[in-house]
Amino acid sequence: MPRPENHPIDPPAVTVCPDCNLLLQPPTLQPRQVAVCPRCSQQLRRYKHNPVQKGLALSLTGLLLYLPANLLPLMTFSVLGIDTHSSIVQACLHMFGTGQQFVGLIVALTTLVFPLALLSGLLLITLGLTRKRKGAWMPPLFRSYRHLSEWAMTDVFLVGVLVTIIKMSHMAAVTLGPGFFCLIGLVVTTVAAQTAIDPHLFWSLMEESPAPSPLSPPPAPEAEIQPEDYLLCHDCHKLLPADYVRASGRDRCPRCGHALHSRKQNSVNRTWALLVTAVLLTVPANLLPIMEVDYFGVPDRSTIMDGIIYFFKDGSYGIGLVIFIASVLVPLFKIVGLAIILLSIHFRWQSWLRHKAIMFRYIEFIGRWSMLDIFVITLLCSLAQFGFLSTISAAPASLYFTGVVLSTMFAALSFDPRLLWDAVAAADTPR
Ligand SMILES: [Zn+2]
Ligand SMILES: [Zn+2]
Repeated sequence: MPRPENHPIDPPAVTVCPDCNLLLQPPTLQPRQVAVCPRCSQQLRRYKHNPVQKGLALSLTGLLLYLPANLLPLMTFSVLGIDTHSSIVQACLHMFGTGQQFVGLIVALTTLVFPLALLSGLLLITLGLTRKRKGAWMPPLFRSYRHLSEWAMTDVFLVGVLVTIIKMSHMAAVTLGPGFFCLIGLVVTTVAAQTAIDPHLFWSLMEESPAPSPLSPPPAPEAEIQPEDYLLCHDCHKLLPADYVRASGRDRCPRCGHALHSRKQNSVNRTWALLVTAVLLTVPANLLPIMEVDYFGVPDRSTIMDGIIYFFKDGSYGIGLVIFIASVLVPLFKIVGLAIILLSIHFRWQSWLRHKAIMFRYIEFIGRWSMLDIFVITLLCSLAQFGFLSTISAAPASLYFTGVVLSTMFAALSFDPRLLWDAVAAADTPR
C-alpha cells in the first residue's frame, strides 16, 4: 500500500554533503526540521508538507497568471497630457526595436521564456507524480527545472518595477496597471512553488528502478568509507558506489542521466576564465554611459555611478542604496569572493574554510540580483517616451554590464565547492 506523501522522510543509509563531501548518516526528518551539514553548514534537506500537491497547485496558479502578468500594462506614466504605458512583452520588444538585441534577448529569456518553462516543467512533473507515472521524460525535465530556477528572474524584475515607479514618480504621474498586480501574484506563486517542493523526494519518486544499493550504513561512516569509494551525481545528488560505476562502465547517472565525474571537470580553470572575463567587462560597464536621457532635445548620458549619485542628491537614499548594492557591491563581492576561493585552493589555505563555503553559497544566491539595473533600464526605455519632452534609451554599458552579470553567474556555476575541502585533504597527506 502506498504511504501517504507527507510521511516522515526515511533517510538513505548513507549520504554525502554535496558541498564538502562529508559522509553522513542523516536523521529522519520530522515536521519543521532541517538537516544541516555539521562541517560546512549547507542545508541538506528540509521537511516539506505535501510537496507534490502544493507544487501542482502553485505551478498551475502561476501559469494562469503568466499571460496577464506579461501582456497587460504594468503602469502608465503621464506627463503634460502625454500617456505612455508598457507591459513586460512590450518592454522586451522595445529593446529589440532600438538596437539593444542582446540585452533584449537576455531580458526576454529571464523574464518571459525561463519562468514559463519553469512553471510548465513543474506542472508536468507534479502531475506525473500525482498520477504515480514514471516516464523517461521526467528526470531530464526535472533536471532542467532545477537549472531554470536560477535563470528565471520574475522576482528580480518585480523589484525593478518598484524601483522604476519610485524613480519616475518625481517626473511623471504613475498609475499602476493590471499587469503589475498579476506580476506580484506570479512572483508570489513562483517563489512559493519553488520552496514547496522537495527535490530529494521528487527524485526518489521518479526513479525507474531503485538505485543499485550503494553503501551499507557503517557505524562510523567517516572511518569506514573512503571518499574514493563512492561517486556523487552533481545534479540529483545520488550516491553511487565507485565499484558499481567502474564495473558497469557507466558514465551517466542512472537516475538523472547527468555525466558522472568525481568533481566538475576543469572547474578551477573555467571559473578563472569566466572571472577574468567578468573583470575585463567591468571596466567598460562602469566607465561607459549606461543610459541616455534626451530632455527637450538635449542628450544627457549617465554611467551606473551617475545614476546612483542622482538618487542620493535627490534625497532618495533607499533606492540609491538598492541600486548601489545591486550594481556595484554585488558584482564586486562576487568577483573578489570567487578570486579568494580560487586562490585559497591554489595555495591550499586551510583557514576559514566553512566561512568560504558559506560565502560561495551567498555568491550563488545573489548572482541574479545584479540584473536589477538592466531591468530598470529596459522599463524606463519603454515607458519614458514622451516625444520632444523627454526620451530614455539604453547606452553601450548596458551590454557590458549584462555580460558582467552573466559571466559571474556562469563562473559560480562552473565552480565545484568540494574542491575547497579537497585542497585541505591533499595538504594533509604527505607528498
Ligand atoms: Zn558539508
Ligand atoms: Zn543524477
